[in-house]
Amino acid sequence: MKTYNYSDLSAADIAKLVQRNVDPANEIRATVEDIIANVQQHGDAALIDYAKKFDKVELNKLYLDKDELAELAATLSNEQKQALQTAYNNIYKFHQTQVKQEDKVETMSGVTCWREPRPIEKVGLYIPGGSAVLPSTFLMLGIPARIAGCHEIVVCSPPQKSGKVNAFIAYVAGLLNIDCIYLAGGAQAVAAMAYGTESIAKVDKIFGPGNQFVTKAKTIIQSTTTTAIDMPAGPSEVLVIADATAKSSYIAADLLAQAEHGIDSQSILVSTSSKIITDAIAEVDKQLCVLPRAEIAGQAIANSYAVLVKDLNEAMQFNNVYAPEHLILATENWQQVTGQIINAGSVFLGNLTPESVGDYASGTNHTLPTSAYARAYSGVSVDSFVKKITFQHITPEGIQNIGPTVELLAEMEGLHAHKNAVTVRMENK
Ligand code: NAD
Repeated sequence: MKTYNYSDLSAADIAKLVQRNVDPANEIRATVEDIIANVQQHGDAALIDYAKKFDKVELNKLYLDKDELAELAATLSNEQKQALQTAYNNIYKFHQTQVKQEDKVETMSGVTCWREPRPIEKVGLYIPGGSAVLPSTFLMLGIPARIAGCHEIVVCSPPQKSGKVNAFIAYVAGLLNIDCIYLAGGAQAVAAMAYGTESIAKVDKIFGPGNQFVTKAKTIIQSTTTTAIDMPAGPSEVLVIADATAKSSYIAADLLAQAEHGIDSQSILVSTSSKIITDAIAEVDKQLCVLPRAEIAGQAIANSYAVLVKDLNEAMQFNNVYAPEHLILATENWQQVTGQIINAGSVFLGNLTPESVGDYASGTNHTLPTSAYARAYSGVSVDSFVKKITFQHITPEGIQNIGPTVELLAEMEGLHAHKNAVTVRMENK
C-alpha cells in the first residue's frame, strides 16, 4: 500500500489519485454492448448461453420457483435463520421511517398544492453472486421495494455451480414473499430486465450493485431504453479517516473487509498520524494472510493507498474530493468533523462502528453510490422505489387570485392558448 503526503500533492495529483473505474480502451463497454444486443435478439437462449460461458453452468430452466426456493431455504440452521431475521427487522424498522405524508400547502388563497408517493409498478432487483453471494443485498433492495408497495418485483441473480441460487438467497426470498428468482447474472441480466425476454418481464427500474459489467450495462440501458436505474453502484470502496485516537487493528480490519469484495475494490486510509499509517499497514499484512479470500483482498490492497494529512480538516477536504461510498471516521473526535462531510454514501462514526454493521444489519441501506457518484446520488431508500406525484386544486376564489399572474406570464412567453385556458375560467365562459 503506497503512502502519499497530502502537502506534496498538487490538485492534478489528487484528481488522478481519486480516479477509479476507468475503462480507457472502452473494452468493458464494447463487451457489454455485445451482450445487450445478443439478449435483445435471442432472449432466454442468450441468457442460457451466457450462464454456460461466464457462470460455467448448464441450465435447463431459467428460474427457481416457490417450492424449489423453500426446499433450499429449509437447509439453513436456526441460528442462520435468526441472523437473517434480525437483519430483516432492523432494515425494515429503519426504512419504514422513510414513509412520510407531506403537508398540503395553500400557496395563494384558493390554490392548493401537494405531493403523494406512488410505487413504481415493475422493479427489477439484481442480487450479485459472482465472487461472493450477497443475501444482504437482497434484503437491502427487497425491503424498501415491499414497503413502497411495488406490484411486480423481478429478481435476477447469477446461477451458482449447483445451477441454483444459494440457500441464504432462497431464505430471504421467503422473508420477502418473493416466489421466483431468475438465474441470470452480469450485463445479460440487466439487459433481460430492460428489454424483457420470453421468461423475464421488462421492468420500469433496475436496482442493485454489481461488478463493472453490471454497472456498465445499467448506465447503457438507462440512456437507450425507458427503464431507469437506481444509480451506478459498482466496485465497493471505503475511505477511513483516522487520527491518533484510532486503533490500527480496527483500521486494518475495515480496510480488508472492503478489499475482500473484489480485486477492483478500493480501501483508502487517510490519517493525521504517520505512526497510525505504518501500524495499520503492518496490521493489514498480519490479518490478510489468515483470510480465506486473501488472494482477492491482497490484490485490492495492492491497488489501494494511504494519505498522510496534517489535521482532520485536511482529511475532510480529501474525503470530499474522493466522495467515497463508505466513510469511516475512526476518531473519538468525530462530532467535530461530521458537519464538514459534503460527499459520502454512508458514514460510520467513531472507533466502534465498523462498516460491516451497515453492510448487514444496523438498518441503513448498503446499496450506495461508488466511483465518486456520491457527489450527486444518495443510497437506495424507500424513495428510490416511488415516484412523487404533484397535485394542485383551484377554487373559484383561487382562479381569480392566480389568473392575472398566469395570463401575464403566458403573454410574456407568447403562448396565447395557455393564457386563454385561464381567461375562460376567470370569465366563466
Ligand atoms: P456480480 O453478480 O456483479 O457479477 C457476476 C457476473 O458477471 C457473472 O454472472 C457474469 O455473468 C459476469 N461476468 C463475469 N466475468 C465476465 C466477463 N469477463 N465478461 C462479461 N461478463 C462477465 O458479482 P461479482 O463479480 O462478485 O461483483 C459484485 C460487485 O458488487 C463487487 O464489485 C462488489 O464490490 C459490488 N458491491 C457493491 C455494492 C454497492 O452498494 N456499491 C454493494 C455490494 C456489492
